[in-house]
Amino acid sequence: MAQARAEELRRLLNRAAHAYYVLDAPVMEDPVYDRLYRELVGLEQADPALIQPDSPTRRVGGAPAEGFTSVAHRVPLLSLDNAFSHGDLDVWYGRLLKVLDREPQEGAPAPALPMVGELKIDGNALALSYEQGVLVKAATRGDGERGEEITANVRTIRSVPLRLELALPPAWVEVRGEAFIPEATFAAINAERAERGESPFANPRNACAGTLRQLDPKVVAARGLSFFAYTLHLPGDWQAGPRSQWQALDWLKEAGFRVNPHCALCPDLAAVKAFCDHWEQERRGLPYATDGVVVKLDDLRLQEEAGFTQKAPRWAIALKYAAEEAPSRLLRLTCQVGRTGVVTPVAEFEPVPLAGTSVSRATLHNADRLAELDLCAGDTIVVRKAGEIIPEVVRVLHELRPAGATRLVLPPICPECGSALVREEGEAATRCVNNGCPAILRGSLRHWVSKGAMDVDGLGIKLIEQLVDRGLVASIPDLYRLDAALLASLERMGETSAAKLVAALEASKQQPWHRQLYGLGIHHVGEVNAKALARAFLSAAELEAAALADEDGEGPDPLTAVFGIGPEIAQSLRQWFATPANRALLEQLAVLGFSLAAAPAQDGGGGPPTPTPLAGLTFVLTGTLPSLSRSAAQALIEAAGGKVSGSVSRKTSHVVAGEEAGSKLTKAQELGVSVLDEEGLRALLGTDPV
Ligand code: NAD
Repeated sequence: MAQARAEELRRLLNRAAHAYYVLDAPVMEDPVYDRLYRELVGLEQADPALIQPDSPTRRVGGAPAEGFTSVAHRVPLLSLDNAFSHGDLDVWYGRLLKVLDREPQEGAPAPALPMVGELKIDGNALALSYEQGVLVKAATRGDGERGEEITANVRTIRSVPLRLELALPPAWVEVRGEAFIPEATFAAINAERAERGESPFANPRNACAGTLRQLDPKVVAARGLSFFAYTLHLPGDWQAGPRSQWQALDWLKEAGFRVNPHCALCPDLAAVKAFCDHWEQERRGLPYATDGVVVKLDDLRLQEEAGFTQKAPRWAIALKYAAEEAPSRLLRLTCQVGRTGVVTPVAEFEPVPLAGTSVSRATLHNADRLAELDLCAGDTIVVRKAGEIIPEVVRVLHELRPAGATRLVLPPICPECGSALVREEGEAATRCVNNGCPAILRGSLRHWVSKGAMDVDGLGIKLIEQLVDRGLVASIPDLYRLDAALLASLERMGETSAAKLVAALEASKQQPWHRQLYGLGIHHVGEVNAKALARAFLSAAELEAAALADEDGEGPDPLTAVFGIGPEIAQSLRQWFATPANRALLEQLAVLGFSLAAAPAQDGGGGPPTPTPLAGLTFVLTGTLPSLSRSAAQALIEAAGGKVSGSVSRKTSHVVAGEEAGSKLTKAQELGVSVLDEEGLRALLGTDPV
């Protein structure tokens, strides 16, 4: 198993590296490459017998491309080991102390070694050779031992000095650094390529590699490459040489090189971590791409002592920024049936850490998306967190598909109740249309007791599952027929929680009309629409009459006449009220004691009538108000008889704008709609003495 996987990974990674280093046209995202690479490293570490000479873990970069002379490097150009978290940095540092024989005594703090933090510029490493202070050769990294000779091209890079600014230069100097293309230039290059019908470069690093390998130096000159120097090698007998990386950077600056200014001499690992965290945030403001931070032991003598592994120095590490995408292996396709019967395919895969959490499931939305992804059993998929929150499957790595894998499609029958699934023409959704489907029942019960509806405490998913599975509840009204003794006999329920739940259900009968309406779960009737409808139709009976009124009759449709209610919602209401089972549900709720109507106005009796100074006015809220939260402002407006809408139109009475108000404010100004601040709103409400 491990052997087959290692072979599979080697094949894939080698193919990807060729596409990346030689063709400058990657076939997968860098974080995906990194994860697969680490998986291979893990397998090889667990069983060294799996290590093969052709493993990408044994090689640096790619072979020199054809068309250029291959040259040997005076000092090999190695890669860097990667870290992906503070924890990885700790492990690296611990190993470094061990190699240097500086491990702390049991319980004692780890000794602090000064380190230099540098930005990891996402470009291409270059080796520059100077003899008697004059640039004589420039080469790409290649496989670390041999690179491509690209001196003529590198000469066109302005930030590479052709002669060192030193009065007495050493016999030879080897300088390493990063050639890169600034983001703005990268965008311009891709725009030009698109115009010529050529495929765009995947990232600035590939664009830079492609440029450095141009056979015509004039093209290179026009591309605006730049160069940051970061490593210096001098003859061993050169006494005036630097003793630390920090001094080396100074030496390079004095010799006329451009050195990235965003580097720091860190006294210990904590300072290194702070530097990394700082730049993870700040890097977006830089005019060039960076993909991490390189941490280097400062003392050159200690660097020498620490030495190298096969492909990277032990005294340095690259901390790569958190990946937004990751590969994983698909375990199975499951289907979720929602409360409206919509069937959503869900991919379940091996857990992967993504943007701070472990992710193992992602929605595939619908049958079309499933077909578009072309998903097969056992596929390796690329997963991403959309908007940093919702996991989604971006694509399938077809190269890794097991032979003879079967294509995955939605099942023809509901996984919950076995009835045939239906997909209406023109609809993206596939549905279970069996009203008795336990999944639909569970969904509607959960919705009924949810926060915005009846807000019943103590009735969670697990309990609902039990109630439905045991046949104790087959409808919303059944919840109100449960007795405490029966509830107390259920798993994880005691007498106290059972009694509390019964009381909470009883209390929920007092919830206002708009919440009752929302709780019914009518398609398209969310909290906002339920409020609008409940204000316009003061009871279920009124709403039903409007919904069942002859659509083609005289006069405007009473439903769409309500602000915010469009034809789609109206149609959904008509369908709902036309269904006898739904009307029966309302009758049962009424018998149970639900008002299904707005509370009667309090005139005549108790206190004074509620003032409604904002009746007939529509407000739009935007930005942050000084003291009122968005929901508090909305509640005040609604309590005073006003309406709150999400978008600005000519019908809007006032836009209430706070700090950092966005496009809604601009639109209001364009349309000449009145704009108020919080004070203005309070004045209208009469809650402000001013
Ligand atoms: P690397 O990019 O992880 O790190 C080494 C390189 O960092 C150096 O060679 C140098 O070019 C650069 N660097 C930037 N700033 C530096 C600094 N201040 N000091 C020292 N070095 C600095 O390693 P690599 O071997 O060049 O490339 C491996 C990476 O390439 C992988 O992590 C992967 O992301 C990418 N890759 C992607 C694919 C793909 O298919 N997408 C294929 C192969 C490689």
